Amino acid sequence: MITIEHITKKFKKLHALDDVSAAFRKGQVVSLVGPNGSGKTTLIKSILGIVQPDAGQIYFNSKPIQSEVAYRDKIGYMPQIGRYPDNMTIGQVISMIKNIRNHGTRKLDEELIEQYGMHALMEKNMRSLSGGTRQKVSAVLAFLFDPEVLILDEPTAGLDPLASEILKEKIMREKEKGKLILITSHILADLDELTTDVMYLQDGKLRLYQSIGKLKELTGEERLGRAIASVMKSGYVQPTEQSGAIVKSMEVRYA
Ligand code: ADP
Ligand code: MG
Repeated sequence: MITIEHITKKFKKLHALDDVSAAFRKGQVVSLVGPNGSGKTTLIKSILGIVQPDAGQIYFNSKPIQSEVAYRDKIGYMPQIGRYPDNMTIGQVISMIKNIRNHGTRKLDEELIEQYGMHALMEKNMRSLSGGTRQKVSAVLAFLFDPEVLILDEPTAGLDPLASEILKEKIMREKEKGKLILITSHILADLDELTTDVMYLQDGKLRLYQSIGKLKELTGEERLGRAIASVMKSGYVQPTEQSGAIVKSMEVRYA
């Protein structure tokens, strides 16, 4: 569904992404993990066309993403930091995006609006919102158009435990519908039950891209955090050449 080939992005001398290749297909929940500044958000923004890579190509359903911006309508995106016009109310922001977005005949998914009790907050000004409520608005918008692909950048950051649980259950239901979900989180425990595949980035390089089953088998660890730590410590994963090999074998498997 999405193929990334040899993406490189530099900010001045800094290699935010360094020759990253990977392929994602329907039904996967790919957890994108790695230290702060390892390039996770830059990779996500490259897929969305918000960041322009210096080299490499990204394909959505086999078409280069620059050739047809309409692919964006198939993606629900929850940014790490949601930015909205300060002087609008929640209700105005939601109706503005409904108007802009081409969602064809797909029915709106208002489940999160209900579950977050957002009808009662529609008159609130964006400026006055707490970080958590702003994050709920981002979540509502990401799921609203029932997109085939969900890209969630630190979705539970700033949410209280109940709101976070509601979101995780929502992601789980979308996973069961067979959607492709790309997710980053610092809280690896949040990813444990969702993840089908793990991508590990470090200094802009893809160090590991492996199914969760294989990762657990290789390490003998059940918890995602421990499994990743174990792989990184063992040195099992070599830099780029190896991840290239992993990507190739995954492409074969998913072909
Ligand atoms: P992560 O999401 O993994 O924390 P990012 O993709 O946000 O990492 O950032 C990767 C690196 O690129 C960091 O060193 C960050 O400071 C740098 N970076 C990201 N965006 C910009 C930008 N617009 N200008 C300059 N440097 C940037
Ligand atoms: Mg980030």
